[in-house]
Amino acid sequence: MSSSTLPTVSIDVLRTLHRIHKQLTDLKGRRDRGPKAILACEANVKAREAELNKVREDLKTMRKNIDAKQLQLKTTEQKIKDLNTKLNTAASNREYQIFKDQIAADTMANSVLEDEIIEMMDKTEAFVPKIGEAEKILKATRDKAASVKDEVQAQADTVKGEIVRLEGELKVCEQELPAPVRDMYLRQAMKKGEDAMAEIVDGACGGCYQQIPINIQSNIRMLQPNFCKTCGRLLYFPEE
Ligand SMILES: [Zn+2]
Repeated sequence: MSSSTLPTVSIDVLRTLHRIHKQLTDLKGRRDRGPKAILACEANVKAREAELNKVREDLKTMRKNIDAKQLQLKTTEQKIKDLNTKLNTAASNREYQIFKDQIAADTMANSVLEDEIIEMMDKTEAFVPKIGEAEKILKATRDKAASVKDEVQAQADTVKGEIVRLEGELKVCEQELPAPVRDMYLRQAMKKGEDAMAEIVDGACGGCYQQIPINIQSNIRMLQPNFCKTCGRLLYFPEE
């Protein structure tokens, strides 16, 4: 039979090969995601710090504005006192009336000012809890960042070790492929990793979903390695 002269490979080798590739994809993903997760956490902490600084500055500004209004109130109160003194020493009825009108106007202005100050104080008091909230959020964000960092660092060595171990297993497994098939497979694997291979699912390539001709399928069943004509993946049948 002519088929006996074609290279064959155990189905287990192909399945194992693809399993190792998938595990490597997963591990390399974890390895690369770790530092990204740390960076994302650090950016989060920075953003929360900025938010806390913002509410602290806002509170400072609110208090400064109240101080300014209170100073204005005191200045006007002093002015009213001075005017009252002047009232007693008025040189004429006309002058007396001018002082009297001025006192009335200043008293009215201060009454408005007092209302404003009370309103500002209420707003400030309602604003104060925002500081505590922002501090709490910042603390939680920092704690989370620290635990993510610890977790990533604790796993990094394990993940790296696993990658080295699996890459070793992969090399051993690849040696089991017949030479011409191996070369073609290796070129694909170098570029595409686990996408160098695909299961046959319902008669189609599991990678690109193109139908595999029946004769190719039966060749594969007779353990002759074949690549998908459309996407170049090395094909195999999954376990039933
Ligand atoms: Zn394909």
